[in-house]
Amino acid sequence: MTITPRIVEVRQNVLKKNDVLARELRERFQRSGVYVVNLVSSPGAGKTTALTELLRRLGRSYRVAAVVGDLATDNDAERLKESGASVRQITTGTVCHLEAEMISRALEGWNLAELDYLFIENVGNLVCPASYDLGENERAVLFSVTEGEDKPEKYPTLINSSDLAVITKIDLAEAVGFDRARFIEAVERVRPGIPVLEVSARTGSGMDAWVARLKAARQALVK
Ligand code: MG
Ligand code: ZN
Repeated sequence: MTITPRIVEVRQNVLKKNDVLARELRERFQRSGVYVVNLVSSPGAGKTTALTELLRRLGRSYRVAAVVGDLATDNDAERLKESGASVRQITTGTVCHLEAEMISRALEGWNLAELDYLFIENVGNLVCPASYDLGENERAVLFSVTEGEDKPEKYPTLINSSDLAVITKIDLAEAVGFDRARFIEAVERVRPGIPVLEVSARTGSGMDAWVARLKAARQALVK
C-alpha cells in the first residue's frame, strides 16, 4: 500500500481546484473573444518594460488591458498604465505565483467582450507559475541576456509549459557577453521547436515581430 503524504495531497487538491477555475476562465475568455497571454519569468527579466511596450504598440489598433501580479506594491501597475491601457494590480502577499482564482477576482466588473487582448504579468518566479493554468491562450517565458545561457535547462518545467520563449534586453547582449547560440541550444534541448524571439523594449528591436505574432494568433482564434 502506498500512502500519499498529506502535504502532497493538499497540493494536489489546490491544483485540481485551480484547473477547474482555469477551465471556466478559458471558456469565458473564448466567449468574449479576448486573446490572453500569461507572461512568466524570473524577477528582473523585464516583463513590465516589455509589456508596457506591447500594450503601447497593440493599443494603437486594439483594445488592450493587463493584470499584473506582485508580492507587494502596485508599482508595476502604475508603470504599465503609462501605456494608456487599463491595468489592475494583484498583490499576492506571500504567494509567489498567480492562481486562476486571483485572476477571476481581479477581472470582476470588467467587460471582457470590450477587450481584444488581455495580458497577465505573473509574479517573477520560474518555478510554480508552471503549475498554475490561468486559462490563458498562450504562455510566454522571458529570459534576459543577463541571466546566463544555462537558465533554460535549470527550469525545464516552465519552458515545457510555455508556447513562446522571449530573450529580453537584447541591446545588452554584447556588453554582458551573452552567448546567443548557446542559449538557443539550451532552449532547444529542453523544448525542441519552441519559437524564440529576441527583443529589446528599450530600442524597440524585435518588438514588431512579437506584435505581428500576437496579431496572427488572435486572428486565428477569432475567425
Ligand atoms: Mg514586473
Ligand atoms: Zn508560487
